[in-house]
Amino acid sequence: MERIAKVAVLRRRIDVARREGARVGLVPTMGYLHAGHVALVRRACAECDFVVASVFVNPFQFGEGEDLDSYPRDLEGDAAKLETAGCHALFCPDAEEMYPEGRPLTHVHVDVIGDDLCGAARPVHFDGVALVVTKLLAICEPDAAYFGRKDGQQLALVRRMATDLSFRAEIVGCPTVREADGLALSSRNAYLAPADREAAPAIFGALRVGAQLVTAGEREPRVVVEKIRSVLADEPRLDVEYVEARDARTIQPLARLDGEVLLAVAARLGPARLIDNVVLRIDGDSVEVEAGEIT
Ligand code: AMP
Repeated sequence: MERIAKVAVLRRRIDVARREGARVGLVPTMGYLHAGHVALVRRACAECDFVVASVFVNPFQFGEGEDLDSYPRDLEGDAAKLETAGCHALFCPDAEEMYPEGRPLTHVHVDVIGDDLCGAARPVHFDGVALVVTKLLAICEPDAAYFGRKDGQQLALVRRMATDLSFRAEIVGCPTVREADGLALSSRNAYLAPADREAAPAIFGALRVGAQLVTAGEREPRVVVEKIRSVLADEPRLDVEYVEARDARTIQPLARLDGEVLLAVAARLGPARLIDNVVLRIDGDSVEVEAGEIT
């Protein structure tokens, strides 16, 4: 695996791969990689000939007082994991390489999709994500880019942005990878103290109860949301930020649960803000639950 810190060098390397007929895949990350990230890379390697994983903690997607400075970093560990997964290039630019003029004057804002849920609690977050993903897609011009369903709102936003801006990349959503007890893997799980770590699987537990209710026939969003809330209330360490049942593509509210539905939770647990979701595909009486995979 090549380690590349410069945009121009990466572009030249990708040009060579493309001239050789390679299908190019991109996996954007903020590093401190875990099995969820590795699953994205493995999927990309199965579907592409030349895979670039980026590790960049993008300062512009962190708000004031958020965890930019304390965000966990381990570039050597990341490089070893990517190498094992079969990744071809690790793109690890510094902030000056990505933003040579400092704070960008150009903004990428996706209306509506990013406005509430995580967007309400983190007002600058999705504009920062949209900007950095746009830049990575402009630099790499991949045939496919891989994102986790764990960040369900982000996936919806990136999909819409890629369509609106006519990026060549196919946006591929990949299943959430979970610990054996159901906790979704996240770099931010490193913030969890032992007692918080023990409480954390309650989030997925509550989402599963919500999904079971829908499988049993419930189609009223409010009833499902209230059920999830009541299960979460059994875990006093959790400070619940939102519980929502939304259209998974548009992130808009639904009058009744139908089509592709996102059941989503955000909660604070000590210093960590955790998010998780399950996707339900509802067609009449049939409900397919996509909850992710245990490592
Ligand atoms: P991050 O490094 O947290 O910005 O995440 C980089 C990519 O990995 C995003 O597309 C995330 O959705 C994805 N990701 C993070 N955690 C998981 C997980 N547990 N399972 C699958 N994908 C994940």
